[in-house]
Amino acid sequence: MENEEKSLNFIEQIVEQDLAEGKNDGRIQTRFPPEPNGYLHIGHVKAICMDFGIAERYNGVCNLRFDDTNPAKEDTEYVDSIERDIAWLGFKWGQIYYASDYFDKLYDLAIRFIKEGKAYVDEQTAEQIAEQKGTPTEPGVNSPYRDRPVEENLRLFQAMQNGEIEEGKMVLRAKIDMANPNMHFRDPIIYRIITSHPHHRTGRKWNVYPMYDFAHGQSDYFEGVTHSICTLEFVVHRPLYDWFIDQFSGENFAGLSPYGPDYRPKQREFNRLNITYTVMSKRKMLQLVQEGLVAGWDDPRMPTVCGLRRRGYTARAIRNFMDRIGYTKVEGMIDQGLLEHTIREDLKETAPRVCAIFDPVKLVITNYEGEGETIIAENIDGHEELGTREMKFGRELWIERGDFLEQADNKFYRLSPGGREVRLKASYIIQATGCEKDADGKITTVYATYDPNSKSGTEGGNRKTKATINWVECQSAIEAEARLYDRLFACENPSAEEGDFRDLLNPDSLKVVTCLVEGSLAKEMHQPEYKNGVAQVNHYQLLKQGYFVVDEDTTEHKLVLNRTCSLKDNYLK
Ligand code: ATP
Ligand code: MG
Repeated sequence: MENEEKSLNFIEQIVEQDLAEGKNDGRIQTRFPPEPNGYLHIGHVKAICMDFGIAERYNGVCNLRFDDTNPAKEDTEYVDSIERDIAWLGFKWGQIYYASDYFDKLYDLAIRFIKEGKAYVDEQTAEQIAEQKGTPTEPGVNSPYRDRPVEENLRLFQAMQNGEIEEGKMVLRAKIDMANPNMHFRDPIIYRIITSHPHHRTGRKWNVYPMYDFAHGQSDYFEGVTHSICTLEFVVHRPLYDWFIDQFSGENFAGLSPYGPDYRPKQREFNRLNITYTVMSKRKMLQLVQEGLVAGWDDPRMPTVCGLRRRGYTARAIRNFMDRIGYTKVEGMIDQGLLEHTIREDLKETAPRVCAIFDPVKLVITNYEGEGETIIAENIDGHEELGTREMKFGRELWIERGDFLEQADNKFYRLSPGGREVRLKASYIIQATGCEKDADGKITTVYATYDPNSKSGTEGGNRKTKATINWVECQSAIEAEARLYDRLFACENPSAEEGDFRDLLNPDSLKVVTCLVEGSLAKEMHQPEYKNGVAQVNHYQLLKQGYFVVDEDTTEHKLVLNRTCSLKDNYLK
């Protein structure tokens, strides 16, 4: 396998070293910890491939943990979509956990913290607290509430939880060190009040919710995670992650972790995925969805997993992409062309070819006498093993308008009266004889004659022509709606630009046109079946036009095709 030959990434090296040293008795446990406040995007997939990949490779387990500590933004719709997308990518989790399962434990820890004099209730506004934070080179200022007596802190924290205090009026802060060079140690907020929204799992039970730094490490610890892998922005949180766990481990807290007092989860960080011409933030994506700037989370222009899937990306291509870009400790930007290159490579091997005409003009073969016939064409030229399809052929065909010129010089290899012989894809050789125009001079019909002895697959089929053109037979052709997608943003790095990112959207990111496809696609004319919540749809290469996927808007009356990518690969240049 490709994987086996590749050198280890730096996290795999750490894991192998830990295994060699016998850490955690050889146990490997990771987790993927999404907050259910949006759909997964391709950045998350990078983390998923890491978290699940490590577990798969080293006989460990990767659990799914929903980091659901902010009811104002979270919803079961997101929980369901996250499970669906991970399963579609082909990964299997061990357990499903929720940070909200630990609310009781975390609340108890907060109480113990207060009793030990390590936490206090602050009544200042968020702005005041921020002002007192200091800078990396200047110490912060102590809150006037920092030295409240323990009893008062206990009473107020109770009152916060009882719903007696208005949202935003009080927070619980850890009492650590306002002068610490690591700003995260300057009395971080560990609990806040949220009363405006019920929690999607615990309802109205809680009025206080733990902050990330007070929930994440502890959750890892409760579950027995060995390698807590995340992205580089958490490097600065790592000392605090370790510090909290140190406070809650050891003899005093026996029973909180299943693995004894010496066990510690270790946080490790890798570089985030950023891709050109898009954004990689759930908050921004939510805004695009809510404001109707895209059709939904699964709009084929979105960098979400469901958007990419609807665009025609396969799970295999997305995972290959992650293998290619790898994991490092430096932030960077990946060319969107590489992502397209990976899906193009994937579909090149698998997508059956069909003819489609986007700007049709009628072609009449004047010497064709028959009622029509069936041509057997290979799905992918030169790959008999990948099957064949039936194409209807007859006297009247649609061809691309651009494949005929009434007057052409000898550099034009396609149809022109008195010009060269041209092969109709997978069938006969024809020669143009003339055309007919309407009152405006627009060509309405092209006339040609064919050579009955030139059919592809017969002896005469070997005769070479300079050009081959696409066609669909008029009676059997099907009209399809083709949705031609392009980059969502007009500039390379919308997140780095000043001003509103919504002003940077590409106004030409979607063009909807009608085309005529060969009748063999009639079998696609039905609503797709859904398996595990995912539409089961097929991919095609529309010859000379690009790779397309059948869209789930298709019905028995209307075929809808999404362009996944064009055929031109600019990445390799
Ligand atoms: P966003 O900023 O889009 O809201 P997030 O980091 O807040 O993303 P989470 O649900 O907290 O979203 O992320 C779950 C996991 O996915 C985290 O471990 C996070 O590090 C990882 N992750 C998120 N975005 C990326 C990315 N662009 N590249 C790699 N990993 C990512
Ligand atoms: Mg987050």
